[in-house]
Amino acid sequence: MEFDRSPGPAADAGPAGPSAQPVATWQTSLRQAVRSLDELLGILCLSREELPGLDATSSFPLLVPREYVQRMEVGNPRDPLLAQVLPRAEENLQVDGFGLDAVGDGPSARLPGILHKYQSRALLIATGLCAVHCRYCFRRHYPYEDSPASLAQWDESLRYLEENPQIDEVILSGGDPLSLGNAKLFGLLGRVASLSHVSRVRIHTRFPVMIPSRIDSDFLERLEAIAFGTEGKPVWIVLHVNHAREIVGPLVEVCQRLRRSGAILLNQAVLLRGVNATFESQRDLCKGLADAGVVPYYLHQLDRVAGTAHFECDEQLGESIVARLRAELSGYATPRFVREIAGEASKTVIL
Ligand SMILES: *Cc1c(COP(=O)(O)O)cnc(C)c1O
Ligand code: SF4
Repeated sequence: MEFDRSPGPAADAGPAGPSAQPVATWQTSLRQAVRSLDELLGILCLSREELPGLDATSSFPLLVPREYVQRMEVGNPRDPLLAQVLPRAEENLQVDGFGLDAVGDGPSARLPGILHKYQSRALLIATGLCAVHCRYCFRRHYPYEDSPASLAQWDESLRYLEENPQIDEVILSGGDPLSLGNAKLFGLLGRVASLSHVSRVRIHTRFPVMIPSRIDSDFLERLEAIAFGTEGKPVWIVLHVNHAREIVGPLVEVCQRLRRSGAILLNQAVLLRGVNATFESQRDLCKGLADAGVVPYYLHQLDRVAGTAHFECDEQLGESIVARLRAELSGYATPRFVREIAGEASKTVIL
């Protein structure tokens, strides 16, 4: 059930058409993101000879915002940021143990758009669109077309939350929920936060890393209204930073603004071969996050999803890295190293 996410720009992207004022908004960034492998290689002064084994024909197409490309090292075919977005022919290999739904999302689907896997929290697939296409994505084969597309269509699904008072936390995920415009995003978040048994809300997003301008003043005001307004419900935001080189000025500023507006910031990273699978890389990442006011929450062992096997590391490698992190860093700066086993009551802590 592979869904072609090639339409690219957010469905409700922007007021700006071709004839509009050239205002640089996040919608413009999304629309102008790099979608061509040759263009990406050209910007980075890399040739196909330096990068054998590329294949840009995947139904999960290349997508990377220019803000992120700018942070890649020109002339480095092994750049850890580039490795996260580079489509490789290895993605077409059938590898034993790697399937279309490695984490059991299918069986946990309730009404359209709602995954209820863990007792106290439900996850909403707010959209299938993202700011970037991460080649290792565990939902790269997710049937996003089954999720509600409009607020009205969410009505029916939100009834599931009303009928399940054991759910005290609702997570907006996807895709990336920040692909939605503020009105739609906070329309959904506000509805969820107004349920009396929901005491916290959470957002999983990679936008602050990829397109920091997404966190505009309207977003921050609406966030603050949920965190400190009449609902007064804490908003936990889980970022997705994989490498210390992603933590640059614009992201640090966005983290400050988000915290000032009441968000509590966590990070989840994935242990990825060729990206961050060394002690030094993880140490620099965790220190950088802590210095930016972000708690390294999870380090994920790769979910075994078809097309991602070339990123997989030995679990023992992750264990030894995290053991060393624990010996060097503050307790809160050491992530829990976890694996997702379909059917378990929570993520499984390896160390
Ligand atoms: C990971 C996940 C959660 C959140 O789990 P936490 O351990 O609370 O971070 C919730 N629902 C689904 C379906 C998940 O995959
Ligand atoms: S941002 Fe998240 S959901 Fe989107 S492609 Fe990357 S890992 Fe997958």
